[in-house]
Amino acid sequence: MTRLDCPFCGARELEEFRFHKTLAEPGTNACDDVYLRVNRLTMSREHWQHAKGCRAWLIVRRNPSDGTVLDVRLAASSDALAHNKDSRHDPS
Ligand SMILES: [Zn+2]
Repeated sequence: MTRLDCPFCGARELEEFRFHKTLAEPGTNACDDVYLRVNRLTMSREHWQHAKGCRAWLIVRRNPSDGTVLDVRLAASSDALAHNKDSRHDPS
C-alpha cells in the first residue's frame, strides 16, 4: 500500500495520510469497540485522515497481510463528530 484514493482528491501518496486507529466491525457494541482489538489477517477497517490534503476523515478497508486496499470511503459525519469530541481538549 503506497497510495490511497481520497474521495475528494483522488489517488495520493500514503505520506499525505495519517493513520488514526483500527475500527471494530460494524454492529459491535461500545465495549467491544474499546476492548476487543480485531486483528484479522485478511481484512482491517481503519480510520485515516488525509492530513496533508483535504483533511477529510476516511474509513479504509484493507488486507493487512499484503497491503491491498479494498475500499476507501468518507467517514460518516457521526464518526467524524465522535472523533472531534474525543480529541477536544477539555480545559476544566
Ligand atoms: Zn483528500
